[in-house]
Amino acid sequence: MSENRDERITDLLRKNGLKATKGRVEVLELFFEAGRPLAQMQIMEMLRLKLDRASVYRILNAFAEAGIIHTAYVDGRHRVYELPDKCSGRNCHPHFSCRGCGMTACLEDFHVHYKGTLGKGFVAERQKVLIEGLCPDCKKT
Ligand SMILES: [Zn+2]
Ligand SMILES: [Zn+2]
Repeated sequence: MSENRDERITDLLRKNGLKATKGRVEVLELFFEAGRPLAQMQIMEMLRLKLDRASVYRILNAFAEAGIIHTAYVDGRHRVYELPDKCSGRNCHPHFSCRGCGMTACLEDFHVHYKGTLGKGFVAERQKVLIEGLCPDCKKT
């Protein structure tokens, strides 16, 4: 890991009132490296189980509370988190979830156009679109 990246991560944590513990730096580093949404299980695998489930859970919760990451979508009981750099508060880009390997990709060039109205009395607050299917790697096999 480069020193600049390390500093950026430490700064980001401190700015959000979080101590830059080793575990937090490692988890946040993964989000920057991946550049795509990550679920808790994927994070644990990427860290080769260096951190236990409870620690990763606590770290993700602290990050989400501080707004360092947000939920890209919820897959059953699992939250998939990402850095909020590509989204506004109201509008998150669509995501693609691979049912083969569980990888999630951000779809920034994919737009969903809605037709019609929500209906009387309904207020839209946030739009989340999830496309499910197979990624290029899983499609091959
Ligand atoms: Zn896949
Ligand atoms: Zn995304």
